[in-house]
Amino acid sequence: MKVKQSIAKELRYSVRDFNNEFPHDSACLEYIKEQRWPNGVTWCVKCLKDTKHHRVGNRTAYACQSCGNHIYPLAGTIFEKSTTPLKTWFYAMYLIGSTRCGISAKQIQRETGVTYKTAWRMFKQIRQLLSEDGLQLEGSTVEMDEMFHGGSRRTSNRRENKVPVMGMVERGGRVVARVAANVKKETLHGLVKQYIMPSSIIFTDDFVSYDGLQNLGYTHRRIRHSERVYVSGDVHTNTIEGFWSTVKRGIGGVYHNVSAKYLQTYLNEYCFRYNRRHQRNLLFKRILEQVSLKAS
Ligand SMILES: [Zn+2]
Repeated sequence: MKVKQSIAKELRYSVRDFNNEFPHDSACLEYIKEQRWPNGVTWCVKCLKDTKHHRVGNRTAYACQSCGNHIYPLAGTIFEKSTTPLKTWFYAMYLIGSTRCGISAKQIQRETGVTYKTAWRMFKQIRQLLSEDGLQLEGSTVEMDEMFHGGSRRTSNRRENKVPVMGMVERGGRVVARVAANVKKETLHGLVKQYIMPSSIIFTDDFVSYDGLQNLGYTHRRIRHSERVYVSGDVHTNTIEGFWSTVKRGIGGVYHNVSAKYLQTYLNEYCFRYNRRHQRNLLFKRILEQVSLKAS
């Protein structure tokens, strides 16, 4: 009996595909080089023109074919100072790109054979690639909601020990999630102005800090959660609540105790994933793209 494959062929990328494309460190280095300088052509500071560069032996350097000046594709990337083989880095990225809820440093340690400390450090650096700086929502219909993270078990029902997170999601589109200093009206309104296009329709619950959004030029529709109403026609916040449940499942189930200090980087990872959810297994390639985009 044939099992129906649910992922479109062009969006599949198996471990075998990975090993075929990246059989060794040299293939990974070549990939980064091509990302930064297609065909090895880039500006030579000595020739003062674009020239072609060729790999120098088995080093991570490429030399200008006219004058021999060296350039380094890994310079300024997260790989620059690492002694971990490039293929291990790539495989860790592949693993991160292949899950929906996230993957722990422990799992990376198990699957790549590096120490826990190395796995944790790699993971932290890969996550740093995933922040979407400057993203602005362009959808005309946006749901907004707050979530509270953390707090000790003893105080877990008290909001004051928790870190507030604000989420805004375009229906059928992208999400933004930001750790907020508090849930006061001016804080939430500031985030709305920063991330949501004027004249959008914003759906929220009846939390008091959302009062006055219409004065900022938005159309504001509210669902009365305090009266136990959750959906009224198209007025609901189910999309953002669905996103929160993925975040909570991941942070609670995979990452366990995420401290307030690192919370934003984990949120960035979930947003990156969510905003590329149609890429399915090619999420790995999207993570790889970030390496040169974020190179200093
Ligand atoms: Zn040159």
